[in-house]
Amino acid sequence: MGVTLYNEDDGDLTVLKGITVAICGYGNQGRSQALNIRDAGVNVIIGNRDDEYRVRAQKDGFPTFDISEAVKQADALFLLVPDEVQKDVFTKQVKPFLREHSVIIFAHGYNIAFGLIIPPSNIDVLLIAPRMIGIGVRECILNGEGYFSFIGVHQDASGKAKDKLLALSKAVGGLSKAGIEISFEQETILDLFTEQGFGPASSQIMMKPIELLVEAGYPEEAVLVELILSGNMKHSFMNMMDLGIVNQVGLLDERSQYGLLSRGMRYKEIIEEVLHIQKGVLRHIEDGGFAKEWERFPSKVKFKFIKFMASRVGFGSLEKRVRKNLGLPEVDLWAETPYPTEEEIERKMRLQRELEEFKQYKEF
Ligand code: NDP
Repeated sequence: MGVTLYNEDDGDLTVLKGITVAICGYGNQGRSQALNIRDAGVNVIIGNRDDEYRVRAQKDGFPTFDISEAVKQADALFLLVPDEVQKDVFTKQVKPFLREHSVIIFAHGYNIAFGLIIPPSNIDVLLIAPRMIGIGVRECILNGEGYFSFIGVHQDASGKAKDKLLALSKAVGGLSKAGIEISFEQETILDLFTEQGFGPASSQIMMKPIELLVEAGYPEEAVLVELILSGNMKHSFMNMMDLGIVNQVGLLDERSQYGLLSRGMRYKEIIEEVLHIQKGVLRHIEDGGFAKEWERFPSKVKFKFIKFMASRVGFGSLEKRVRKNLGLPEVDLWAETPYPTEEEIERKMRLQRELEEFKQYKEF
C-alpha cells in the first residue's frame, strides 16, 4: 500500500505568517509543542485552567487564558487535553467560540475516528500526532534527532487545509524525521492495536518465562535481573530501532545467534494462536466495538477491578518483593488505585453478560 511521506521541505512556514496558534492544554504534549511552534517564529498563546500548568506556561513566557478565551483569539488551535475529557472541553469551551475556517488540530484521532466529537463543517480539522512522548517532542528537536509524526486532513473547509497541515506540522517539529500521511481512523487503530495487541502479548511473553524459571527453583532476584533489570532487553530494543529486528541479531556472538535463530522456529505454532487473538482484537477495534465497550459503565468498574488486582497480586507482588530485596527504589504508580465501591460492584453484577468475566478476575 502506497504512503505519502513529507519532510521539512514540504512545509512552508510563511503560511502561518500573522496567525495566532492556541495550545489548549499545557501538559505533556502541550508544553513541548508550544515551545517548538514559538521557536518556529509563530505567535503562540496558551489556553489552560488557572492552576500550576498555567503558571508553568506563564513562567515559559506565554500569554495565558482560559481555554474559551484562547479559542476566540486563535486562528488555529491544538486540542491537547487528555482524550477522555476532550469531548466535554470541545463541546463547552471550544465549539461555541470557533470562527469560520478556524483550524483545529488533534494529536490523537480517537474522538474524531469514533464520532465522539463531530466538528462543525466550516472549520478545518487536522491530525498531527507525534510518535513520541511529550518531553521527546521538545528534546528531539533541541538535540537534532527529530521524530516521526502521523499527519492528515479530516476536513478541509477552507480549501487550504493541506498547506496548513504541512506548515503546522513543520512548526511543531512533526516533519523532522518524516510526516506519514494517514487518516484519523488509521492512526487511532494503530495506536489502540499497539496498546491491546502488541503490548499485552509482549508482556505476557515476558512474564510467563519469569514465572517458569522461578517455579523451576532459580532465585527470583536473579531471574528478574537476567531478563529485565539488567537492561539487556532495553539495548536490544534500541538496536532494533537502529538496525532492524533481523539485523540486530548480528551483534550477538555466534552461539547466541545460533540459539536465537534455531529456537525461534519452535514458537511458530504458539505465534499462530497469538495471531488469532490479535486478529480478533484488531477487528474489535476496527468495527468500533472496543470504543463502545469503553464508553459503557461496566467497563469502568471492570477496569478498576483489574487494575486493583494487577497492582496487588501475581506478578505485581513478585516484582515488588524483588525490587525491595535488591534495594531498588520503591515505585507504586497504582498506590492509590481504589477497590470498586459496593455500589459499583452491585450495578455491575446486575449485568449478566459480564458476570463470568468478573468471576474470572476475582479468582486471578
Ligand atoms: P496531559 O494529561 O499531559 O494533558 C493535560 C493537560 O490537559 C493539562 O494542561 C491539563 O491542565 C489539561 N486538562 C486536563 N483535564 C482537563 C479538563 N477537564 N479540562 C480542561 N483542561 C484539562 O495530556 P497529553 O499531553 O498526554 O495528551 C494530550 C493529547 O496528546 C491527547 O490527545 C493524547 O492522546 C495525545 N498524545 C499524547 C502523547 C503522550 O506521549 N502523552 C503522544 C502522542 C499524542 P489542568 O489539569 O491544569 O487543567
